[in-house]
Amino acid sequence: LAAGEYGPEQPGRVIAHFGRTLDVRGDDGGGPVRCHLRANLEGLVTGDRVVWRAAQDSSGNVVDGVVVARSERQNVLERPDARGQLKPVAANIDQILIVFAVEPAPHPNLIDRYLVAAEATGIAPVLVLNKIDLLPEDGGELTALLHRYETLGYAVVTSTTAREDGLEALHACLAERTSVFVGQSGVGKSSLIDRLLPEEELRIGALSKDSRKGTHTTTTARLYDLPTAEKAELIDSPGIREFGLVHLDEQQVAEGFIEFRDLLGRCRFRDCRHRQEPGCALLEAVERGEVHPERFASYRRIVESLNGPERLGWLK
Ligand code: GDP
Ligand code: ZN
Repeated sequence: LAAGEYGPEQPGRVIAHFGRTLDVRGDDGGGPVRCHLRANLEGLVTGDRVVWRAAQDSSGNVVDGVVVARSERQNVLERPDARGQLKPVAANIDQILIVFAVEPAPHPNLIDRYLVAAEATGIAPVLVLNKIDLLPEDGGELTALLHRYETLGYAVVTSTTAREDGLEALHACLAERTSVFVGQSGVGKSSLIDRLLPEEELRIGALSKDSRKGTHTTTTARLYDLPTAEKAELIDSPGIREFGLVHLDEQQVAEGFIEFRDLLGRCRFRDCRHRQEPGCALLEAVERGEVHPERFASYRRIVESLNGPERLGWLK
């Protein structure tokens, strides 16, 4: 291959992007390569799987590359831009780790809001209870609350950055997957990520931020390899951590409660809003004790906030 010529097409993944410039990692290993986009390609995001070609210099070193196509997305995370329009921020994610903490304790309604938001993306949520070093001996109310979510079928993982072996369950959960961390401020996301990422990776992230001041780098997501778990990848950015509910309608909120799904088609009226309609399968299930009253109350509260003054916004 002559210097400056592009090699054969190969599969890869976008690990960072800066406008029309991307860092792509080839599936066959090797470091990331700075690539530009072929003219007809738009809107690639971190996590996208792509077809790209590498260019070599005269001594055979890969110097840069060009992305020629985007592969179909498995899923995409979106968030509103300054004008309120939804824009993709990351793609091809296997699981959303919803982090909450013993302190500050989560409100059950908040966990439900995160779960509904995750369900709407089609990406599997996992509940992570952090700071378990602060749990009371008997486990407290939180342990009972978590058990309720496990019964619903959700994966629940506990963690603490205060003990050497505190992240073992998290390592197992991260292996072989691409994950994102979301959750309220103060629950320990930065602390967890600092422990999971080697200093080297964090430094690369910080460097690319500094050298491109003013180019939206603070909200641009980056894909990291976690050496602490087998084939574990993490996509992270401040914007992703604030992931939340946007633009959902009443039906999507109801479907976000996984134990409601089988019931929703069984109401007498097709347009049942599950308030006081006769023959409402959901209300009857609450009555029979098959749906937890707090989950139903949570559903109602979220639906009310769709039209209310607080609006259903991006979670902070
Ligand atoms: P973030 O806002 O979610 O990124 O949270 P931070 O990582 O900044 O953590 C918030 C506070 O919680 C900091 O003071 C951390 O030192 C503390 N923290 C994080 N993880 C743990 C933990 O496992 N146990 C305890 N006790 N404190 C923690
Ligand atoms: Zn109904």
